[in-house]
Amino acid sequence: MAKVYIKTYGCQMNERDSEQVARMLVERGHLITPHENEADVVLLNTCSVRDLAEQKALGKMGMLGALSRQRPVVYGFLGCMAQSRGESLFKEIPHLDLVVGTQKFHRVAEYVENALARKAGPRMDDVRFSIVDVEEEPDSQGSIRDHLLSERQVTAFVSIMQGCNMRCTFCIVPFTRGHERSRPIDQIVDEVKRLVDRGIREVTLLGQIVNLYGRHEFPKMDGRSPFVQLLEAVNAVDGLDRIRFTSPHPIGFRKDLVEAFRSLPKLVEHVHLPLQSGSDRILRAMHRTYTAEKYLKLVDEIRAITPEMAMTTDIIVGFPGETDEDFQSTKALVDRVGFDNAFVFKYSKRKDTPAAGMLDQVPDRIKEERNQELLALVNDWARRRNAGFIGREVEILCEGPSKTNPARLMGRTRGNKIVVFEEASHQIGQLLNIRITRASGYTLYGEPVLVNPAALPAFDKVTVRPLAKEHVSGCGTASCLGRDKASGDVGETRPYRREPTEIGNR
Ligand code: SAM
Repeated sequence: MAKVYIKTYGCQMNERDSEQVARMLVERGHLITPHENEADVVLLNTCSVRDLAEQKALGKMGMLGALSRQRPVVYGFLGCMAQSRGESLFKEIPHLDLVVGTQKFHRVAEYVENALARKAGPRMDDVRFSIVDVEEEPDSQGSIRDHLLSERQVTAFVSIMQGCNMRCTFCIVPFTRGHERSRPIDQIVDEVKRLVDRGIREVTLLGQIVNLYGRHEFPKMDGRSPFVQLLEAVNAVDGLDRIRFTSPHPIGFRKDLVEAFRSLPKLVEHVHLPLQSGSDRILRAMHRTYTAEKYLKLVDEIRAITPEMAMTTDIIVGFPGETDEDFQSTKALVDRVGFDNAFVFKYSKRKDTPAAGMLDQVPDRIKEERNQELLALVNDWARRRNAGFIGREVEILCEGPSKTNPARLMGRTRGNKIVVFEEASHQIGQLLNIRITRASGYTLYGEPVLVNPAALPAFDKVTVRPLAKEHVSGCGTASCLGRDKASGDVGETRPYRREPTEIGNR
C-alpha cells in the first residue's frame, strides 16, 4: 500500500480526471494523502492552457524531488502538460518516472505500481526506468466514470465528453485533449443515478465545448441537439435537484438549449459563456466565429427566456494585435452584459498555436494594465449584482462548512452565488431558503427563513443521506472559492480554476 499525493492544476475537468485516478488507486488498496511530505508517490495533474500553470507544476515537481532523499518516491506528470511535452519532461526533471497523457488516466494506477515495484527491487543505476504513455486511446471518454466522494459531499462533476474540434488560435486544448468524443446518454445517466444514490444532489456536466456534446455520434431528435436530449434525460433522474454545465461555446448555443432553461426545472439559472473579446477584429483573429453583436443577441435571447439568469464569462486581454480600441470594445461589451463574474486571462503564448506565431504580440505591461482595468469593471458589476440580492430570499443547496469560518455553513444559489449563513450542520445536503442580509464582492450572507417546524420532515430525514461504502473520508473534488490574486482573476463562482487543488484537501 502506497501513500499517494495528487495535486491538480487547471480546470474542473482536470479535477474530475484526478478524482478518477484517485478512485482507481484507492480501489487497489492505496491511500490518498493531502500531505506531500509523507508521499511514496507524487502525481501532478497538469494544465497547459497558460504558461504560468506549466511553470508552477514544473517548479513543484522540482521541489518535491527532495522527498526521495529519504526514501524511494515515484514521481509522475499526468494530463495536458504531460501530453504536450511528453518525453522531453525527463530532461527538465531528472527524477521523473511517469509521463501519462490525457487519454490514459485509467492506466495510471498500473503504471504507479510498476514503478513502485521497480524502485523496491535491486538498483540498476545504469538503466533509467521511466514510463511515457501519451498515445490516443479509443473510447477513453468512457473511462472517466467513477467517483471518490468525500463524506457529506453533495455536488459532483460528471465528464460527458473529451476533446475539442474548435480551432481557436490561442488555445492548446485541441492538441492536448484530442478531437471531440462523447459518451452515450445512458452511461452518463447511470453515473448520475449512482451519484444520487450516494447523496449527490447537484451535478455539473463537463466538456470542453459542452453544448456540442454528441454531435458526431448521436442524431438530433425533433430539433433537439444531443446535448439537450442529455439534459432532459439527466433532469428525469429522481432525487437530483440541480444540473449545471460548463463550458459552452456561443456557437451551437441554439434555441433548443435556450428553451431548455424554461422547460427543465433542474437546470439552474447560470450560464458560463466564454466571450474572449468584445472586438470583432480580435474575435476573427481568434477564430471564434461569432461577432460581438451575435454574442449580445444570444445573451438577450437567454435573458428573454430566463430574466434572472446569472451570466459569467472568460475574457483574454492582450491577444496579439489587440489595440486600445479593441480593448475598449471588450469593456463596453462587459458593461452592456453586466456579468456576475468573469475570468480575465492575460494572453499566454502556447506552443504550436497560430497566435503564438503572430507578429504583433502585446507587451506584458499593457496586458497587465488591461487586466487590472477589466478586473475593476468586473468587480464593480459583481458587487452591483450581489447588492441586488440584499433583502431577497434565495434557495441554496447547503454544501457544508464555510471555508473561511467553519462555524458557519455555505451553499450556492441556483445562479452559483456563494451564500454563507449560520445554522445547524444537519442541513448539509438540503435545499434551504435564505434571506440575504449582506453582500460583499463575491459572497452573500444571510439567515435561513424559518418554516413551520410541523411542515419539516422528522430530524433523521433531514440529515444527509447515509453514505455508501465507497465514500472515502477526506477525498474528492474541491470547489474553488475566493480571489486568485496571483493571476489577477476573480471568482467565487469559478467555473474555471487555475490554482492547484489537492485531492484529499476538500
Ligand atoms: N469552452 C471554452 C471556450 O469556449 O473556448 C474553452 C475553455 S478553456 C480551456 C478556458 C479558458 O482559458 C478559455 O475560455 C480562455 O479564456 C482561456 N485561455 C485559453 N487559452 C489561453 C491562452 N493561450 N492565453 C490566455 N488564456 C487562454
